[in-house]
Amino acid sequence: MPAELIDGVAIAKQVRAEVAREAAALIARGVTPGLTAVLVGDDPASAVYVRSKEKACIEAGMKGEAIRLPADTPQADLLALIDKLNADPTVHGILVQLPLPKHINAQAVILRIAAEKDVDGFHPVNVGRVWIGEKSGFAPCTPAGVMVMLAQAGVKVQGANAVVLGRSTIVGKPMVSLLVAESATVTVCHSKTRDLPSVTRQADILIAAIGKAEFVTADMVKPGAVVIDVGINRVDDATNAKGYRLVGDVQFDAVRAVASKISPVPGGVGPMTIAMLLKNTVRAAAQGLA
Ligand code: NDP
Repeated sequence: MPAELIDGVAIAKQVRAEVAREAAALIARGVTPGLTAVLVGDDPASAVYVRSKEKACIEAGMKGEAIRLPADTPQADLLALIDKLNADPTVHGILVQLPLPKHINAQAVILRIAAEKDVDGFHPVNVGRVWIGEKSGFAPCTPAGVMVMLAQAGVKVQGANAVVLGRSTIVGKPMVSLLVAESATVTVCHSKTRDLPSVTRQADILIAAIGKAEFVTADMVKPGAVVIDVGINRVDDATNAKGYRLVGDVQFDAVRAVASKISPVPGGVGPMTIAMLLKNTVRAAAQGLA
């Protein structure tokens, strides 16, 4: 029997409805949760992401604002803008869309955002808070979304062997910390891992986040495993009007035949990321009231 689908679109819709209810409750108390996204330059993919974040906020009854700056904005000007947003009581979440132009030091920018408004969860204070299990910390949205998908799909994380493919700051490493917090036994793999298939075959839960189209094949997956595909990769496709289509890091059809549950691409982790960003922003607004 092919694996059951973990439908990220449906789960994200539930999260967004919950966020809208929480936002309405805060508005009734006189606080409209607000997210400000800052975009430097005109990278088309980043522009699309920022627009969808702005739109999602407004749909949830929140304040969503995007500040668009030219690509040659000096780092000092961007830092001054962050200082202004840090001091603005109507802004609860600040997000600087990455990647930034090369002349700007992304780490310096992330460090400047007040940890209490860092709804992307990239500030070292939030990284630390999440590691030590302090509830006030903001976890990065993509791995936080994966945890919600596992919970909604009824996957038992406690005691499971979880293998995370990829160790980036945005996905792989925070994924490890969230899985450990839920008492999984976690292995993290990367480009230097020896005999990768023998490691991935140990996984009851396999999370693929490496950015390589259809890298995970059926022989790398234990029968009955739960597979979450974080990857978003473009592959050429002449049959598609755009000339390409999106695929994950997992060979979907072949792996679906082996796994017990699997998330598709598109329609899996992608929609969860924005939903979790809204959730973090509402939490930031509520924590400001506490
Ligand atoms: P990075 O490129 O930052 O990290 C990739 C990781 O994969 C690295 O740790 C790298 O190892 C590892 N890796 C690369 N090649 C191999 C290999 N052959 N074998 C084993 N490990 C390998 O990517 P991100 O974490 O930012 O993103 C991963 C994927 O997730 C991308 O497709 C991205 O588009 C997608 N993504 C999706 C999101 C969503 O909302 N759904 C959000 C963010 C990302 P090493 O460290 O040794 O170099």
